[in-house]
Amino acid sequence: MGNQVSRRKFLSTASAAAVLPSTWGFVKAPPSNKFLAVDATPSSSKTRIVDTHVHFDEKKPSFIGDLLKLSDRLDLTACVLTPFAYRKVVAEAAKQHPTQIIPFGFVDLDAPDVAKQVEELHAMGYRGLGEMEFVKKPYNDPSYFPVYELANGYGWIVLFHTGIVLRRNFDEPEDVASGRMRPIYLEEIARRFPKITVLGAHCGNPEYEWAAEIARWNPNVFFDLSGSTLTKMHRRLADFQKFFWWSATEWHSAEWNVRTPNNDPSAFIKIVFGSDTDLDGVESVVNQYRAMFDACDVPERTRKMIMGGTLSKMLGLPD
Ligand SMILES: [Zn+2]
Repeated sequence: MGNQVSRRKFLSTASAAAVLPSTWGFVKAPPSNKFLAVDATPSSSKTRIVDTHVHFDEKKPSFIGDLLKLSDRLDLTACVLTPFAYRKVVAEAAKQHPTQIIPFGFVDLDAPDVAKQVEELHAMGYRGLGEMEFVKKPYNDPSYFPVYELANGYGWIVLFHTGIVLRRNFDEPEDVASGRMRPIYLEEIARRFPKITVLGAHCGNPEYEWAAEIARWNPNVFFDLSGSTLTKMHRRLADFQKFFWWSATEWHSAEWNVRTPNNDPSAFIKIVFGSDTDLDGVESVVNQYRAMFDACDVPERTRKMIMGGTLSKMLGLPD
């Protein structure tokens, strides 16, 4: 949205990006290969963090430079959610720093020329879309399908805001409603457009159960825990085990096994890292994720997949 700074300030206390099935090794297994071999890569070999939720800050001329410094310090790759007006500067930065900056297009689904914008972003080397938000209709409205068709054809990642959304203006009417951005709408998008990797931001806050259940049955759906959730739940982080409950259970089908990243039996594999904060707040969100991992006994190899392994594979990043 236009007002990034105030937006992010709100979002950091109130309230998440998306790509490439063609490089998605774990979805390419043939149906007969029902127990895809466990990834033999030693878990310690992957330390890169991939942050799916970094809003480009147009008010900060030093943003790209600051991001590169952070990236060097934390070994972090950022999916940079880029307003259409800033598409060229971020595309250029991504070309120069392809393992640090992944360009995602931040478009308005209700704009009359949105499909044309998406085609242009693809031609410029963009890898996905996000964060979709402030929509005038529910995410599954057919008027948005042309954009999803394009993203499906490109095999893109698409990040959707889910759940409660900030109010930017208290004095004037606005046409904004959290109810249009419920996580349940992502299910239909994931099923109609199976080559899109659907990322839901904020895990549906507060509809965590719906978010987790939709991720459970849809191999192309993941959620981040950015926004206020990890702060709100910091005294009850173990509750995430209630939402992501199916770790090491026998319920799952052979198809589900094949499509789980690294054939990981932990339900937490459906979470990815996203910060949705100013650059100087990213490290504290990393620490919040780690506190949740400890509270829920998330296995070490799953932690690495959440923090970057899953997105690294999708994006084809080097180890
Ligand atoms: Zn959001």
